[in-house]
Amino acid sequence: MDINKLVRENIRNLKPYSSARDEYKDKEGVFLDANENPFNTSYNRYPDPLQVDLKKRIAGIKHIEVENIFLGNGSDEAIDLLIRIFCRPGLDNILSIDPSYGMYEVCASINDIEFRKVTLTQEYQLDLNQIMNAIDDQSKILFLCSPNNPTANSLNNNVIKIVLEKFKGIVVVDEAYIDFSGQASLLPLITEFNNLVILQTFSKAWGLAGIRLGMALSNRDIINYMNKVKYPYNVNVITQQKALEYLNEADKIEEWVSLVKNEREKLSKKLEKFDFVKQIFPSDANFLLVKVDDPLKLYNYLLGEKIIVRDRSKVHLCQGALRVTVGTPGENDLLMEALGKYNGEI
Ligand SMILES: *Cc1c(COP(=O)(O)O)cnc(C)c1O
Repeated sequence: MDINKLVRENIRNLKPYSSARDEYKDKEGVFLDANENPFNTSYNRYPDPLQVDLKKRIAGIKHIEVENIFLGNGSDEAIDLLIRIFCRPGLDNILSIDPSYGMYEVCASINDIEFRKVTLTQEYQLDLNQIMNAIDDQSKILFLCSPNNPTANSLNNNVIKIVLEKFKGIVVVDEAYIDFSGQASLLPLITEFNNLVILQTFSKAWGLAGIRLGMALSNRDIINYMNKVKYPYNVNVITQQKALEYLNEADKIEEWVSLVKNEREKLSKKLEKFDFVKQIFPSDANFLLVKVDDPLKLYNYLLGEKIIVRDRSKVHLCQGALRVTVGTPGENDLLMEALGKYNGEI
């Protein structure tokens, strides 16, 4: 597939802003080229616009090249950039699955791009026929999310591969929760399919939602366009430093992930025992989607106990469900204690 042909003409022809740090990349020297304050030596310098040190570490961990990595202010930046690169406002459309993460639709609306939702099957899987029927010549991007938020399950990778072969547009697979999943990442497929973009984030398994760092992983052509369109200094110095620090702590992250998965199974077994719990959906993520009797009553009861879960009961195919993030063992105990009390009162 010729990626260049899919790109908006104005983006293809864009001459990107060239910053001082683009023009002189060495780290040594007397820097009098960026109008910085010379005195505050901790944070006076603009960050590396392409975050090369950080990308080298990530490339090593993920067994890809620096040129396959875009880093942004959360995955949300990557979602918005992809829409702006490929979709002409008022003309093109994007597709996604329903239910799924809300940002795809919000970014589409902001950019005046038609958003088409394809309902998942009852098992929360892709309906290949429905997806192919929803696609037309103006369909530029398909956003998939696996493991999916809020349904918690992974999409079938074989069906995603068929979609990658059939769809003549960009397929974005949002893998925000991949570290908690029993299924393998589709990242190795970026060398096989040049229309595939994988989104991952430091916000979930890495525990760094506060520093705002997301990744798009794809072939060089797409990554180059993303680098061309992004703000020159989109990832700040502090975020780059913190991420580098945590990349040295891979063992700790692995331990957190296995703790969360362990707690997830424990929580699921305990929840099952309550009569007011109707269904607990299988989870490949760090949360459980739980169908209950009278979700609003339970939600408000928990609020009274200062335990805040997410009400998803009005979301398509999630009727009656609350979404519960797996907490620390102590937090999960508090949840179970509150639910035990609730169970005694109803
Ligand atoms: C939490 C989440 C993200 C993370 O977004 P960031 O902007 O990187 O914090 C991305 N996609 C999905 C589906 C999520 O649930």
